[in-house]
Amino acid sequence: MKDMIFPRRKNGPAPKSVDQPVRNPGGSLTQNGLFYQAAKQHASDGKPAELVKVYEKIRPGIWTYNGIFLLVDAWIEQSNGRNVFKFNLEIAEDQSRQEIEQNDFSFDHNRLIPAEVKREVWKRDKGKCVVCGSKENLHFDHIIPYSKGGSSLVAENIQLLCAKHNLEKRDRIE
Ligand SMILES: [Zn+2]
Repeated sequence: MKDMIFPRRKNGPAPKSVDQPVRNPGGSLTQNGLFYQAAKQHASDGKPAELVKVYEKIRPGIWTYNGIFLLVDAWIEQSNGRNVFKFNLEIAEDQSRQEIEQNDFSFDHNRLIPAEVKREVWKRDKGKCVVCGSKENLHFDHIIPYSKGGSSLVAENIQLLCAKHNLEKRDRIE
């Protein structure tokens, strides 16, 4: 399954547009061009909708996982001389999401921390690694690991760590 990454939106539940060219300079479709094509094939030719994992980019190096969606339609709008992709996404059924998430090991490192919790943690930790104060390559870390029963749903169990301290902690636990 492919990842779709959207820029952070100030309001609205899920971001649905990406400002990007349709084709690379060499003429091939960009990643979002491919999503656009897949969505059109579903909307006009009745092909099965593609499942995508949707992420929002909060800050450079910080992503928040929004869930698994079906790519049901897409269109292109012009904005300031650029092509902006607009996507119509539908949240995938809970059943299929759970199966996919259980079978997808990449989720082990990004266990579904809700966006509100991430915002709260970001604010509390002032956008810095709680160990060294670095502002680079930050990760949301479970203080008690998810695999050991730690919750993703409360800010008290989540902290900001830079990549270095995140890795050091993981080495200690595993
Ligand atoms: Zn650090």
